[in-house]
Amino acid sequence: MDKMVEELAERLLKQPPTTVVDLVMTAKGLKTGAEILRKERDKELEDLIDDMKLVYKWDRRKYLVTRLKRDITRQGVDSVSRGRWFGIPECCIQNYQKKDKEDLRKQLSLEELKLLEMGENVPDEFYLGSMGYLPCSMRCQATVERGIKARAILEGIDPRLWAKFRNFHIRRRLVEYGGEIKSWREAK
Ligand SMILES: [Zn+2]
Repeated sequence: MDKMVEELAERLLKQPPTTVVDLVMTAKGLKTGAEILRKERDKELEDLIDDMKLVYKWDRRKYLVTRLKRDITRQGVDSVSRGRWFGIPECCIQNYQKKDKEDLRKQLSLEELKLLEMGENVPDEFYLGSMGYLPCSMRCQATVERGIKARAILEGIDPRLWAKFRNFHIRRRLVEYGGEIKSWREAK
């Protein structure tokens, strides 16, 4: 493996899977920018962002990260512009506008349960693609496609990055079924 790619992979592996996905998706243009939450400034993350040729702005408890400096301030304030900045598929952005957030969450869980009960598979790429937003449906094609592209990028850097995401999402789901998700999230 290329020495530089190898070194990048090692540093990415030290980051939480959500941060990794945000960084690589931004670097490869699957989204204009990302918001990476941190309680305080993180030098290691800042160096990683620099080395990936991305730019950032520390904004209280989060980093705004983009490829182009001018995009940092172009996030907008309404949820449609913010959604586009995050690279969320248009069908999901529009659907989200019309629905009550909790209803949508319930609808998706129900849809997911039905699919699984029918013995249908929800691809892991769907969960990767929808990281950070509520998709319009468990069958949203744009979301799966986003996930397929993101997976290819992760694996292109190092297959362990994809494996790490899969572990994260599978185990998180087990915890959710156990009803302990809240305390786990707060533990970070
Ligand atoms: Zn959609």
